[in-house]
Amino acid sequence: MDILSLSEDEIFEFLKPQPRFRAGQIFSWLHKSGVSGFSEMTNVPAKLREELSKTLPFPDFSARRRLEAPDGAVKYLFSAAGDFIETVVIPQSYGATVCVSSQVGCGMGCAFCASKEGGFIRDLSAGEMCAQFYEAERGFGRRISRVVVMGGGEPFLNYENTVKFINLINAAAGRNIGSRNITVSTCGILDKIISFAKDAPQVNLSVSLHGADDKTRAALMPVAKSYSVADLMAACDIYAAKTRRRVTYEYTLIDGANSSPEHARSLAALMRGRLAHVNLIRLNGGAGGFRPAENAAGFLSILAKAGVAATIRKSRGGAVHAACGQLRAGKAGSAI
Ligand code: SF4
Repeated sequence: MDILSLSEDEIFEFLKPQPRFRAGQIFSWLHKSGVSGFSEMTNVPAKLREELSKTLPFPDFSARRRLEAPDGAVKYLFSAAGDFIETVVIPQSYGATVCVSSQVGCGMGCAFCASKEGGFIRDLSAGEMCAQFYEAERGFGRRISRVVVMGGGEPFLNYENTVKFINLINAAAGRNIGSRNITVSTCGILDKIISFAKDAPQVNLSVSLHGADDKTRAALMPVAKSYSVADLMAACDIYAAKTRRRVTYEYTLIDGANSSPEHARSLAALMRGRLAHVNLIRLNGGAGGFRPAENAAGFLSILAKAGVAATIRKSRGGAVHAACGQLRAGKAGSAI
């Protein structure tokens, strides 16, 4: 167990019989100030700091590479207990967003994604997810105001730690990142989509769709062989009904796979009548020899004519391999 994974209440329980305010001080150092070691907790007794460093340490976490793109996006390769993970900071006009990984590697096997290389290795703890945020912010030099869980891994297969991470960064005594400024992206784990409506009803939900029919989707995403598009949409409808919030559907436009006018019409039909927004994404490198489709504007106009709310997402950080898994797959081990 690492100290960054614990809520203020859990720190209080661990520290008993220390007074309650001590847990508050420590939680604030960890999640408000974002310190990287016990020595920085200057109002905590030295003896207690020394004990904690042995019994409840910080995650074993360090930056191995930092690459900055001309557009300002910064990509980090972190070592988490010796495993490599990626984190990206994307500056935007309304503030910086950090994209964190939820697992080391990924077992979902999406055909166009480099994070699947090497398969699933392990889940990240909530503290390791916080460490990505705080370390990336330290290196970025400006405050981060938004968080997306869209890096390596499937967050809903590491559900408990993902919800814990959300609660930690959302805590008023910590960084107090508003729920509406947090987004979790899943490739479609149905029972967890429904649980998420109860566990984090104000947090944005994004679903990787990439195909509006079973055949197109299954050719790109093995998860579609377990869950049909109809079942996925039924789970998303339950989520939308419970939260009264729209779901964002991510759709990466891939040449020859899912980007024809027919595919656009099929997607428009699927979205009709739903509380939904479609995010069209230009393929950014990736794996499997796929090429980005060049007709994003035409695809968008078919959706728009059908009354579907849709936008083309601006890709940032291509120059530093910001698409998930590329840095980890290609350069793991180089020093920062
Ligand atoms: S797109 Fe996401 S779920 Fe699919 S393999 Fe990559 S990291 Fe895993």
